[in-house]
Amino acid sequence: GAPRDNSVDMPSHDDRWPRQNSLSMKEWDIPYDELKLYEVIGAGRFGTVYRGSWHGAVAVKVLHVHALNDHCAPLDTFKHEVATFRKTRHENLVLFMGACMKPPRLAIVTSLCKGMTLYTHIHLRKDKFTANKSVLVAQQISQGMGYLHARGIIHKDLKTKNIFLENGKVVITDFGLFSVTKLCFGNNARGDSLGIPSGWLCYLAPELVRALRPHASLHLPFSKQTDVYAFGTVWYELLCGEYPFKGQPAEAIIWQVGKGAKQSLANMQASRDIKDILMLCWSYRESERPDFPHLLSTLEKLPRKRLARSPSHPVHLSRSADS
Ligand code: ATP
Repeated sequence: GAPRDNSVDMPSHDDRWPRQNSLSMKEWDIPYDELKLYEVIGAGRFGTVYRGSWHGAVAVKVLHVHALNDHCAPLDTFKHEVATFRKTRHENLVLFMGACMKPPRLAIVTSLCKGMTLYTHIHLRKDKFTANKSVLVAQQISQGMGYLHARGIIHKDLKTKNIFLENGKVVITDFGLFSVTKLCFGNNARGDSLGIPSGWLCYLAPELVRALRPHASLHLPFSKQTDVYAFGTVWYELLCGEYPFKGQPAEAIIWQVGKGAKQSLANMQASRDIKDILMLCWSYRESERPDFPHLLSTLEKLPRKRLARSPSHPVHLSRSADS
């Protein structure tokens, strides 16, 4: 009779949730054969990024899985991080489109960023950022990072190489995948004995620097506050056009940061307010570092030099993530 049929159609609460979860995971699984890979955009330490095509232009990061590390369960970690990644929807974060999750083909598919990274602007092209423009960029970074943190996601690798500028709009990439892409699959071929690639150290908060051990970066105590410290370094690069501790060897930086010394700001041409933001982000004690909502409101209150606004840079900042 009818009542019995109804009960067959209604799964119990217990088996409904696992089924929904595995279904939603499948939605993000992209069969590797559906991807078209064109030229290599860049080879990071643990993955190669290709320009590709999948329903339009995409960036495909193919992970090098030949050097599996026994100390983590790579596939589980990868799936976990992909599950985190797919929760992100914000104007200032790269759009995650899906992933190939069948080993040995592990890849992450995101929208293709146009424009250049802040690293290219600042360190390669030596473009100068005015204080006003630096503030606009920093506000957008704070918005994107504030969103990530509100979702419980720690970036772990915030740096100018992972921030694109597309017609004045900031797009942050490479978040949340640090442990799997950088650590599980790593062979340290390009780092030194501590596994420190050049240009990485100056983003590391004192508590991370103090925890550095040869071949043990998997257990570094990343936190929201270590992201804020890294933001401080990005803010310094924007304003000064160079890395803090420029030209100093790794051991010297480790020694200084580890005992609480900071890059001197004596020669920096900037207002007190602007330097205060740096000093707060670089606080030795993590509890003294501001969070991103606080940084955003501080940045918004900075007095602006009254310059004519370029019409090509409309105010992205007042727009919210989803309209
Ligand atoms: P590391 O692996 O040491 O952190 P990295 O950040 O340079 O180094 P990847 O993140 O693998 O390495 O990136 C490699 C290259 O691909 C970089 O030049 C980066 O700018 C580019 N890239 C990464 N993601 C995208 C994207 N979504 N759109 C366009 N280019 C991208």
